[in-house]
Amino acid sequence: MSHNQIWTEALSYLKAQLPGHALSAWFEPVEPIGLSDNKILLEVPNQFFAEWIESHYEKELESSLNSIGGMDYGFKFVINSNPSKIATDSATTPQQRPKALHQNNINKLYRFDNFIEGGNNEFAKNAALSVANNPGENGFNPLIIYGGVGLGKTHIMHAIGNRAVELNNSLNVVIVTSEKFTLDFVNGLRKNKTIEFAQKYRKADVLLIDDIQFFRGKEQTQEQFFHTFNALHQAGKQIVMTADKYPGEMKGLQDRLLSRFESGLSVDVQPPNFEVRVAILLEKAEQNGLTLDYDIIEFIARHVKNNVRDLEGTIIRILAKSSLMNKEIDHSLVREVVQERTGGRLNSDISMEDIIQKVSNISSISEDEIVGKSRKSEISDARQVSMYLSREIIGTSLNNIGLFFGGRDHTTVIHAVNTITNKIESDTRIKNMLSVVKQELGYSF
Ligand code: ADP
Ligand code: MG
Repeated sequence: MSHNQIWTEALSYLKAQLPGHALSAWFEPVEPIGLSDNKILLEVPNQFFAEWIESHYEKELESSLNSIGGMDYGFKFVINSNPSKIATDSATTPQQRPKALHQNNINKLYRFDNFIEGGNNEFAKNAALSVANNPGENGFNPLIIYGGVGLGKTHIMHAIGNRAVELNNSLNVVIVTSEKFTLDFVNGLRKNKTIEFAQKYRKADVLLIDDIQFFRGKEQTQEQFFHTFNALHQAGKQIVMTADKYPGEMKGLQDRLLSRFESGLSVDVQPPNFEVRVAILLEKAEQNGLTLDYDIIEFIARHVKNNVRDLEGTIIRILAKSSLMNKEIDHSLVREVVQERTGGRLNSDISMEDIIQKVSNISSISEDEIVGKSRKSEISDARQVSMYLSREIIGTSLNNIGLFFGGRDHTTVIHAVNTITNKIESDTRIKNMLSVVKQELGYSF
């Protein structure tokens, strides 16, 4: 086998073992460049990179190279002397990835003990835990976990698998994506092995199927799934599924399937709120051996809000960037990464009320005065600072800022923004006030 083929196989194994961000940050930049003494030569951008992989993923890398084409390969890192070609965006660009070979393995990294609970997911987590503790015997059959991408559905599903096996390792836990199920079925048809297919799934004590929305429009696969489902359900075996939507709202799935699902429990996962995002970032940083100052954590949590995968990706990206470019993890590096991931502008959930409230605290001028008519200079300074920040942080239109600040004209707002822009240079009091308000709002460090 060529080194490229070996690496392709190894990657498909790693893909099933490691979270996607780890794969993209640490393994995709790796280039297989040759084979020597049954060791595959892996080119990495720098020493740090090699050490990082060795200290964090050595076991997985070793196993990935075992029994490829009947051989046990080793590996050796080669440091690239000209790393510029990967210094830019390789960590986020998905390269062609081979199909996973070991997809039905439970991912050991997805456990209940490293799943952070918050109001957004506690119901789902607790239902899942009770299913894992008593599969098939808890009234939650099937259990369906649904919600948007990157919110932990796959994590919870694997956690059920891990826990169920931990409690009873004779349990036959079958875990697949709906695509894998479809593929198995189609291959069964093609090779006249439909009986084997049926047996594989019908022998499960716990059947975990990820992303059933991909059954959409696949009539024959749904038919098979329907029979599998009934057989297992009647035998009191546990079924868990994840989906991107509430099952009742899923189009393209047969009604008889959907009505079967109603006999169980559907629970949703929601995006995490600010506090949960902070907790997740602290956990993910620790998992990756990274110590980040609290202000950095809070800054990320303010700006990266959509889902947990993004939060995790941000941490990994910070690590990858600092190692690829040999840079310290400082405020500017973090800001750069966050900006990349949020698509340029640093958005946050700060409102004009928040700005006025902070300015009021710091200047000891009441919120009413800030939006009021007084022309006293401290008051109008506070007002202009608030307008300036509304523009800079939230990007509110001039008209809306004017309206909010006591029904003023947009030209007044332009004047305020210009005045403050000039004063930043000359007036340290204004400059400090701006920086303290921004920090307290979590907008900057
Ligand atoms: P989904 O299947 O809903 O798209 P995943 O389960 O793949 O999402 O989650 C994306 C990433 O975020 C995974 O690496 C997962 O471990 C992590 N993750 C999601 N939710 C949590 C959580 N509550 N605590 C810890 N990690 C989480
Ligand atoms: Mg998923």
